[in-house]
Amino acid sequence: MTPKAAVRDRLIRLADRLGVDSLYRAVLGRHSGALNGRVLTFHEIAPEEVDAFDRLLDLLVSEFDPVPLGTLVDSFRGDGPTTGPRSVAVTFDDGFDSWLDTVVPSLRAHGVPATFFLTSGFVDAETTAEMHAFARENLRLSPTTSLDWDDVAALAADPLFDIGGHTRTHPDLGAVSPDAIEAEVREDRDRIEAATGVVPRFFAYPFGAPWNVPAAARAAVAASGYDAAFTLEPGYVTARSDPYLLPRDGSEPTFSPALLRARLRGSYDPIKRPLDRIRSYVR
Ligand SMILES: [Zn+2]
Repeated sequence: MTPKAAVRDRLIRLADRLGVDSLYRAVLGRHSGALNGRVLTFHEIAPEEVDAFDRLLDLLVSEFDPVPLGTLVDSFRGDGPTTGPRSVAVTFDDGFDSWLDTVVPSLRAHGVPATFFLTSGFVDAETTAEMHAFARENLRLSPTTSLDWDDVAALAADPLFDIGGHTRTHPDLGAVSPDAIEAEVREDRDRIEAATGVVPRFFAYPFGAPWNVPAAARAAVAASGYDAAFTLEPGYVTARSDPYLLPRDGSEPTFSPALLRARLRGSYDPIKRPLDRIRSYVR
């Protein structure tokens, strides 16, 4: 962890101990209406990280209310049972084959539902060399390997899990043309439907910071038939949220339960913007 991240995480836990979260939720509720819960994001979980990941799932089950992403979005749309501030939907991005040995057994053992957002071009990579090259060049990760379509179809058929779209090749959508954005979104959705027989309802923007999500990307996703789309900006899904710019909390298996608890109570949200500003000055 970088020294800056360590300072940030200490501030988040301090804000949580001071009870910033309950004041923040009261103010947010007054301005933005019902709080429908939060969406948590992970990427790859390595075998040596499974114990830490299991401790985070223990926390979710004991102190929060894990729900399918579809349940949270339906509540937000006023179209199903109501979720609340303690509701959490768990998601995973990109399509790593290690999920089958690490993430899937842990989620099943805890009864925690999850949505897997797939970069379909990664799943289409056939040889290990192609997968490694895709991970390095497109996902900006160290070499790793992808699920195949049989794995994806099995996940899609499991009632605990569902599949979402995450583009064909994982570009920074803030750096490509509107035509390229439209093709990335549409071809990925078509590929997932053709391979699994299931039409994905949800989309996650690659990288997910505000500068990775231009207006053209939001427009392309909204026009393609998705019910909702997710960034990687932390926050509550509220009655006033934009359905195509819903927040998600980026998280790591290395987070302590105390840090994850603080983030899921919203203790990071009111201090994120000032911290980002300070960071932009000291960079
Ligand atoms: Zn991604």
